[in-house]
Amino acid sequence: MKHLIFSLVFSATWSLAKQPNILFIFTDDHAPHAISAYGSELIQTPNLDRIAKEGMTFERCYVTNSICAPSRAVILSGRHSFHNGQMTNGDVFDGSQVTFPKLLRKTGYETALIGKWHLKSDPTGFDRYEVLYGQGSYYNPRMKKDGKEVKHVGYTTDIITDLSLKWLKEERDPDKPFMLMSQHKAPHGRWEPALRHLGTLDDVEIPEPKTLFDDYEGRTSSAREHKMGILEHLGDKRLMLQYSSQFTPEQFKVFDGYFRPRNESFLAKRDSMSKQELTRWHYQRWIRNYLLCAKAVDENVGRLLKYLDESGLAENTVVIYSSDQGFFLGDNGWFDKRWMYEFSYRMPLLVRWPDQVEAKSKNRDLTSNLDFAQTFLDLAGAKADPKMQGVSLVPLLKGEKQKDWRKSLYYHYHEGGGHGVARHEGVKTLRHKLIHFFDKKEWELFDLKNDPDERESVYGNPEYTKVQAKLFKELERLKKEYEVPAIVYKSHKEIQAEKKKGR
Ligand code: CA
Repeated sequence: MKHLIFSLVFSATWSLAKQPNILFIFTDDHAPHAISAYGSELIQTPNLDRIAKEGMTFERCYVTNSICAPSRAVILSGRHSFHNGQMTNGDVFDGSQVTFPKLLRKTGYETALIGKWHLKSDPTGFDRYEVLYGQGSYYNPRMKKDGKEVKHVGYTTDIITDLSLKWLKEERDPDKPFMLMSQHKAPHGRWEPALRHLGTLDDVEIPEPKTLFDDYEGRTSSAREHKMGILEHLGDKRLMLQYSSQFTPEQFKVFDGYFRPRNESFLAKRDSMSKQELTRWHYQRWIRNYLLCAKAVDENVGRLLKYLDESGLAENTVVIYSSDQGFFLGDNGWFDKRWMYEFSYRMPLLVRWPDQVEAKSKNRDLTSNLDFAQTFLDLAGAKADPKMQGVSLVPLLKGEKQKDWRKSLYYHYHEGGGHGVARHEGVKTLRHKLIHFFDKKEWELFDLKNDPDERESVYGNPEYTKVQAKLFKELERLKKEYEVPAIVYKSHKEIQAEKKKGR
């Protein structure tokens, strides 16, 4: 009996010791090509690169539905948008459903969420939360802390890290493994850099993407009908000709002191500038602000890594960096996301897990935000919910070759209309991508090996007849596998009516 008790206690302690802490640092609209670990020519991100150097870089991680709130809901639920109910930014997340934080808690984890949430309903499944209201602001954010409003003064990216560090240092239960989701608004619009970064890129000419002046030939009408043009659609607020945050007088003096003279000199010549000159000015103004917002993220990632080192937590903490989708950084002449095209479809995913993940390793399998929930649960040794639709990435992290790993991904953008992007679905394999703009009855097919920038659809090209037929079949197979309901092809009005009936 004594022996039995000893072994029970021993095995319980042993299994607890094996449960790693999880630090999930998550940003908004941070494209892989604005991270130097992904070969960015635009910015140096030494702290994110450190995670890559000490861990694994996932080179083919893709989002199921390239927009903010839906991506977050997929991560929490491990289910496609049409099953978790968050198909668009306009939906309210049903917090009563099974999510990974709830299951982590059941297995002994303490869970905390700090920063951007964006799912309208109050967070569930967390021992502690403090979240921005809606999109949040870059300066002096209002936050909801366990149901109550709290006001902060300062730069939001720094504040979210301050609060995350405070929870790690003072507030969590040190006897429990933790899951901390430290989630930034940055680098989502409207892009207001930190005061300390103003002017730091003024002498740098940021390289223009080769497709900044895209003519959209070679694709269907969908691309041409966009409303996310660097020239036409950025507008004064996104260009920082008008500011969005409520500043303190001291902050305003510095912020406005930097932008006002530059804005005045631009406005004095704006009307006489050619379209090409204007596009170039817009791009430089906007991309600098975007990159500076990303730079603040990188610095704050460094602060968290430093604390893990100093506290001795680094050894048993899995650090994960990701962002809710990619983003067009002037590519195709665009800002924003939504498309199944690579720049907005691909997500960054960097993972450091000491002693388990080989340093400087790279994974090129097809992975997805659909896999995150099951990965977190697997790390904790917890069982996933049978309704979850992803696959744990833990075997990939451990470098175990997976012969039967998925060969294709299903994509579905439900929102439609926003920034002129029509609803679409599609299938991606390692080499090809088939996109269906179903409201417009238009198809595109890209051969990513010959055409990595997706300039020339080969849909209907006789050379691709076989590939096309295979992709049609694969798309149908995936729709069946994920149980895509027929309602998602109906109009928004019909979908809303159906939802009401469901209630
Ligand atoms: Ca986003």
